[in-house]
Amino acid sequence: MSRVVLVLNAGSSSLKFQVFEAEGERRRIYRGLFEGLGGNAHFIVRDSADVQLSKVDWPPGEGLGHEGALRHLTEWLSDHREGYRMVGVGHRVVHGGADFSRPVLITPEVIAALEKLVPLAPLHQPHNLEPIRIIASRRPDLPQVACFDTAFHHGQPEIATLFALPKAMHESGVRRYGFHGLSYAYVASAMPDYDPRLGSGRVVVAHLGNGASLCAISAGRSIASTMGFSAIDGLPMGTRCGALDPAVVFYMIREMGLSPEEAERTLYTQSGLLGVSGLSNDMRKLRAVEATNADARRAIDLFVYRIAREIGSLTAALGGLDALVFTAGIGENDATTRAAVLRASAFAGFELDEAANASGGPRITGAAGPSAWVIPTDEERTIAQDMTAMLDRMPLPSAS
Ligand code: ADP
Repeated sequence: MSRVVLVLNAGSSSLKFQVFEAEGERRRIYRGLFEGLGGNAHFIVRDSADVQLSKVDWPPGEGLGHEGALRHLTEWLSDHREGYRMVGVGHRVVHGGADFSRPVLITPEVIAALEKLVPLAPLHQPHNLEPIRIIASRRPDLPQVACFDTAFHHGQPEIATLFALPKAMHESGVRRYGFHGLSYAYVASAMPDYDPRLGSGRVVVAHLGNGASLCAISAGRSIASTMGFSAIDGLPMGTRCGALDPAVVFYMIREMGLSPEEAERTLYTQSGLLGVSGLSNDMRKLRAVEATNADARRAIDLFVYRIAREIGSLTAALGGLDALVFTAGIGENDATTRAAVLRASAFAGFELDEAANASGGPRITGAAGPSAWVIPTDEERTIAQDMTAMLDRMPLPSAS
């Protein structure tokens, strides 16, 4: 009977999951997701060959929440365990604060410590913690591990973590943390397989998905990132505004009459590609209409312009640039955005290989100048690897 682990990535209305073997190559067995939790929920699961195994739609009135989703998932898994034994659950947790610099085994004390970090990531952390609490109460025998989006950035030079605010604020936790660390950790670990020079060089990794950020990686370690105190900083994203003059927020509240909650909602959910285009947060939809729609074009142009400016900033932090790596939904799939970013970053001297870019790389530049690459990310695999390494050091549970 082979040991498997379940990896959960819980959002406000979604729950993504994957099941991996706990040893050897950590083979992926199942992957799937619930979307529309709290509304028009649906569930889909595929096997390792991407064949759909099950699809369920719930009527809107039934209001399947995270608890109901976990119950459905547990039942589905117990019907499909075919010689597998679940030995642990790994969770993506957005914020590990200043203290959690590596994955941690969940205990009641750890849950209490992670709850204290909710004010630092109010729109993400509560959703990440909900399945942890539910599983801890239903299956206290099953080891659970939290893996943090902030952890890869621990060890950045102190200067990269500072805001120019009063010292006492920094000491109370108002500092730059950086996010998307599970994705960057995966890409950093994969880079030497593509080219050994990526492992030892000065690399900017562009995680361009619904959330988007850049990370400066020197010899495999994060030294700076565009995301700071929260996952809203840096680049414009699907619905988040990215870096913003803080006076805009005061103006929204004092002059435009928005409550702090309305201002927060505007910056997190009504801005970015969606806000500028007035159409969609989805790059594919914007690409489909950009030829005839000036607002869609402007949103994409701003996205590319900001990425190029931030590549310049991180190149300064790295003291030069050896390579740029694209990853996540837009980075992996949108050749037009990749080409535009390389053109807008002409200062760096990229030599775009159009054919290689059109076919998805992995290397999309010629021999001259810094190289650029497409490397698919796999955050869940990072979690599976980190947690199985931790479970290997523990006695086996008597779990079924
Ligand atoms: P999340 O942060 O939700 O995990 P993803 O990494 O899946 O997001 O990225 C979602 C983004 O990737 C969306 O804007 C989507 O339109 C974009 N995307 C996915 N495939 C393509 C494609 N073929 N061309 C352009 N954009 C794409």
